Amino acid sequence: MNAGARQPEAATGAAARAARRERGAVTLSGKRRVHRAGYAPWYQGDDFSSFEVWLGRRCNQHCPFCSVADLGPDLAPTGEVSRWFTLGARAFRRVMFCGGEPTIRRDLFTLLRLAREAGFERAVLLTNGLMLAYPEFLRRVLDAGALSIGLSLHHHADDALAALSGHPRTGPLVKRALAALAEAQRARPEMFLYLSCVVSRRNVSDLAGYVRFLAVERARTGLRFMVAFALVRPEGGALRNFDQFVPRVRPAAAAVAEACARLAAEDIPAVFYHFPLCAVPPEWMNHSGEIYYDDVYLHPPDLRPEPATGRDFTYGPECATCVHRPACVGLPSAYAARFGFEELAPVLASPGA
Ligand code: SF4
Repeated sequence: MNAGARQPEAATGAAARAARRERGAVTLSGKRRVHRAGYAPWYQGDDFSSFEVWLGRRCNQHCPFCSVADLGPDLAPTGEVSRWFTLGARAFRRVMFCGGEPTIRRDLFTLLRLAREAGFERAVLLTNGLMLAYPEFLRRVLDAGALSIGLSLHHHADDALAALSGHPRTGPLVKRALAALAEAQRARPEMFLYLSCVVSRRNVSDLAGYVRFLAVERARTGLRFMVAFALVRPEGGALRNFDQFVPRVRPAAAAVAEACARLAAEDIPAVFYHFPLCAVPPEWMNHSGEIYYDDVYLHPPDLRPEPATGRDFTYGPECATCVHRPACVGLPSAYAARFGFEELAPVLASPGA
């Protein structure tokens, strides 16, 4: 199909999400992640349903592909977030601190305590990792209840990390953070760490080097982690800089599959995110963790629920007959608007199946 021959069915998903954030929305996530077999046992046991709290867009990095830098309030106030916790803890065991960068909030430890008091069993901290380079800060984060850490690491080379983050010291600081996390994990084996690698044109050709770096880190420090390879989402900065960042999906998926195989040889689990399943080589389909945004948004100050409308991903006409559709995220809407659906290859149910 020619690019642009069909409009994505939900091209307004990102805009709708942005509009909600502008109003200071928190996501009460009915988010369902379809994780399949193939993970290490310590990973399989985790429940990925989360109450996601958008804490504001302020950050100590300036990633040129950031999807949220332009969005939402600067900071959601402590009292407001606390009210959200009370509500979310009725339905969820985990709360996810999203941003922007949560670790630069002065009230971070207060919020972690409030989340625990609200009844959440586990807090997940999504972070760029700069502040975790300081062991005392990390100890306080873990003591306050953040037992899952999602750490962004999009490259292994310091110069590339500086360019990708807009911060000259990201590489050295994040590498210090990995050492501090290894130390902390020895004392708290229940601490769950995943490294989030956004796959873009800037790193897709050097994932082998990335894996080599991780294997050395693992051998040197004993750090236990999973790697989540997520296809860059053409929103915000990545949409503005589309040609610099957004790779074609099929070659990117092949590169990630090769990286996953190398990681598997090192006994490091890895998953795909945000790739259409038909682009994932069959032997790695079981390592695809997909996300469903069956979200409900709650609007302060009255926490009025509003069902989410629109997705940032879309399906092609071919997808209607594909057996994978129930577990597949489809294509990013902006990607489909640029390139169409020609890379998709629906898998039809075999007769009698
Ligand atoms: S054809 Fe569509 S539904 Fe099927 S795997 Fe590809 S993107 Fe997903």
